[in-house]
Amino acid sequence: MSPTPQQDRPTLAELERGLPFADRHVGPRPGELARMLDALGVDSLDALADRALPGAIRDREPVGGSLPAPVGEAEMLAELQGLADRNTVNVPMIGLGYHGTRTPSAIRRNVLENPAWYTAYTPYQPEISQGRLEALLAFQTMVSDLTGLPVAGASLLDEATAAAEAMTLLRRAGRATSARFVVDADTLPQTVEVLRTRAAPLGIELEIADLSGGSLPDGEMFGVLLSYPGASGRVADPSELIAQAHERGALVAVAADLLALTLLTPPGELGADAAIGCTQRFGVPLGFGGPHAAYLSVGQRHARQLPGRLVGVSRDADGHYALRLALQTREQHIRREKATSNICTAQVLLAVMAACYAVYHGPDGLRSIAQRTHRMAAVLAAGLRAGGVEITHDAFFDTVLARVPGRADAVVAAAHAAGIALRRVSGDEVGVSTSEITTVAHLRTVWEAFGAGAPDAAALDSGTADALPAELARTSEYLTHPTFHEHRSETALMRWLRRLSDADLALDRTMIPLGSCTMKLNAAAEMEAVTWPQFSDLHPFAPESDTAGSRELIGQLESWLADLTGYAAVSLQPNAGSQGEFAGLLAIAAYHRSRGESERNVCLIPASAHGTNAASAIMAGMRVVVVGTDARGNVDLDDLRAKIDEHGPRLSALMITYPSTHGVYEAQVRDVCGAVHDAGGQVYVDGANLNALVGVARPGAFGGDVSHLNLHKTFCIPHGGGGPGVGPVAVAEHLVPFLPGRGEVGPVSAAPYGSPGVLPISWAYLRMMGLDGLRRATLTAVAAANYVATRLQEHYPVLYSGIDGSVAHECILDLRAITKETGVTVDDVAKRLIDHGIHAPTMSFPVAGTLMVEPTESEDLPEIERFVAAMISIRGEIDRVAAGEWPADDNPLRGAPHTAACLADDKWDHPYPRELAAYPTGGTPGVHDRKVWPPVRRIDGAHGDRNLVCSCPPPEAFA
Ligand SMILES: *Cc1c(COP(=O)(O)O)cnc(C)c1O
Repeated sequence: MSPTPQQDRPTLAELERGLPFADRHVGPRPGELARMLDALGVDSLDALADRALPGAIRDREPVGGSLPAPVGEAEMLAELQGLADRNTVNVPMIGLGYHGTRTPSAIRRNVLENPAWYTAYTPYQPEISQGRLEALLAFQTMVSDLTGLPVAGASLLDEATAAAEAMTLLRRAGRATSARFVVDADTLPQTVEVLRTRAAPLGIELEIADLSGGSLPDGEMFGVLLSYPGASGRVADPSELIAQAHERGALVAVAADLLALTLLTPPGELGADAAIGCTQRFGVPLGFGGPHAAYLSVGQRHARQLPGRLVGVSRDADGHYALRLALQTREQHIRREKATSNICTAQVLLAVMAACYAVYHGPDGLRSIAQRTHRMAAVLAAGLRAGGVEITHDAFFDTVLARVPGRADAVVAAAHAAGIALRRVSGDEVGVSTSEITTVAHLRTVWEAFGAGAPDAAALDSGTADALPAELARTSEYLTHPTFHEHRSETALMRWLRRLSDADLALDRTMIPLGSCTMKLNAAAEMEAVTWPQFSDLHPFAPESDTAGSRELIGQLESWLADLTGYAAVSLQPNAGSQGEFAGLLAIAAYHRSRGESERNVCLIPASAHGTNAASAIMAGMRVVVVGTDARGNVDLDDLRAKIDEHGPRLSALMITYPSTHGVYEAQVRDVCGAVHDAGGQVYVDGANLNALVGVARPGAFGGDVSHLNLHKTFCIPHGGGGPGVGPVAVAEHLVPFLPGRGEVGPVSAAPYGSPGVLPISWAYLRMMGLDGLRRATLTAVAAANYVATRLQEHYPVLYSGIDGSVAHECILDLRAITKETGVTVDDVAKRLIDHGIHAPTMSFPVAGTLMVEPTESEDLPEIERFVAAMISIRGEIDRVAAGEWPADDNPLRGAPHTAACLADDKWDHPYPRELAAYPTGGTPGVHDRKVWPPVRRIDGAHGDRNLVCSCPPPEAFA
């Protein structure tokens, strides 16, 4: 056999490297990309970049600084394993709101590791979101049952921010004029810190008061936050303090542990107006601090004040039971400058997991987990007492506070050496928290660490009473709904979860071309490490020596992101884009203050901005002034200059999105930034659209002082059906001292690093893509958006484009003229896409009556063409309505989506055929049939808002 000449075969090095990961991440195959570029009249991605990107913002050379050359999946996972191995997982008995828990394997595999759940988007299109809406309704029901308050939202970001949301809710909802908010001194310290951060800009006076004496401090207050149990473990009846507060015209929120509430009288029955807390210990891994779903529940009269999303019951066009997000039209979710909260992305996937945990265990299972937890604590305390250790509180649920004068460090160190992490409260006190995973063997280790000898656990158990006050024993029932009883065998649970996810359209079945949301591939390799115990079982307050690997990963990710954005430093603490915005604006405010310019409080925001921008500015204590946009959708420079002149020395910041929310690279962005800087203001660049910039331009280099990024958009953390998210804040050198939690500005999240549990995803993406891969992804995304715009422009006007006619990574299809002429609305188009099995683009943002399409780099050409064909087919149907062939109120668009049930009904009195309703483009029923049957028809949102039901209705309701 003669050897193949070297030039005819790959080198050994190339063969060893294999196919780059970027070839998997990027959807279009080379031939497909060539066809797309051809349609755009360019011959390469570089030529497209030259045409579409303004020279003024472009990096001449790719700049990625510290980002290393890419590696393949196997090498990436080996490196990540190396980092994981540098963490040490000790048994977490630190408490402080974070506890050991067992994620049932059935929930881990079927939800957390299942793309049908984790790749879904926020359920704004309820007809294809009934599965996650039902799971969220179970979450709301669980929270409301356990807290004894009838209305619970569908998750908040963490316990500390939930407390802050409760604080502002009480202020809005109450009648008191005082600005004082009293906080129980026995509140989780991280909650107090976040409350301080959130209270200051709003002029709320926070008073931390020792309430253990049973009375409130003198004077007026608008609200009170109590803890039940307290951070020290103490359990006290809060009803007396609640009554005192009500007498003084103040409202009360109670921070409560849901597991404890299976045994304790719930806050709602004790008179509380609101309850907050975290559902982490319901089967959600610690993850070194997050992500976890927090909760907030209130009485009926405050339902309309709830921040975040609320799932409600409504009905569809055929009168059938259907779910959707409630009260959405009222607030479009976030009410801009009238905003009361900036929550957008929440913690849906984690809320679903917690709800599944309650469904899997049922009320009796939860109660027995609570009993185990409590009995372990009671026996632990008895053993310590028997060994001569003084226990501070007699009444506790899971946390034992032990007095060991002068010995705390030694006790904590001895326990740590034996594999258990305890809480050092002070030099004289140690806290020990039990959980679902605590064993008698752990108790023995703890006794030994305290030098309390080796008592007989069984004897202690029989001789020790419960440590919960008898008068607080829970008597009311909870989780009585069949949902919490019918899926207790694993087979039943598995099938329930499958049935729910089959009701939803996630990325595992269709492209989700949601402009501004960047629904791109969440690769399996990126997801692997999320459930590795060395990452998932770390407590956020574990000793530094246990967390070296995670901290190194965080440090690397921060520096890669800083280099890719052109900023000096990044903080990964914010738990969503909205929180990054808030942190960034606080940095700007603190910077002005540090220069003696605290009168600078005006924040200029273009009319087209995302709702969170204005809401964050309000929360940061700024005054929002809206700047107009010109006919092309760009910031109106004349209006900007006029507003800058008008507010002169009071100008604090301009917040712009780049590329703009109109999907256009504004050529003049440097002038815009320059004008603001010349007037002494700072420039905030909303980085939600970074998918159009990574590897080609850096906001920190073209004029931004601060940006937030959305790792759940550009950097591949899956949307999870509406969270988790991570919203890093990136700042220029002069703002570094003002990053959250570094001294000058307080923390914005409960955990020091926010949600590290999902950071391996973005780390893995960057590690496998490298700078060239990222640049290729960005330009492919731009090519895809321009391709869609080109293919559809003769059917739908494309609203905005740059000077040369190009769009950035998304394009807006303008339906307003069509609607005016034919009565067919963006809703009709969005719902008709469901009949095609395709998820709708973003509806009516940033311009009402339009659709914003963002195909991303991950969709291949056949899928893009499937979308284009559906949109063209829909345009054909619109034309038939326009021609009078079908009435405006009875046509396939208005009737969409069509369920199998409505098509199978003997009665069909519509002027269009059933087959067209079901198979709009003809379809080819058979093995390749991609038909998706929606579970419900179009949902009547208004009906549900008028009759607000937001927990699982009793089965009789379906009779
Ligand atoms: C998504 C988005 C945000 C908010 O981010 P969340 O993570 O949902 O809080 C802000 N601005 C723009 C332009 C966005 O698209």
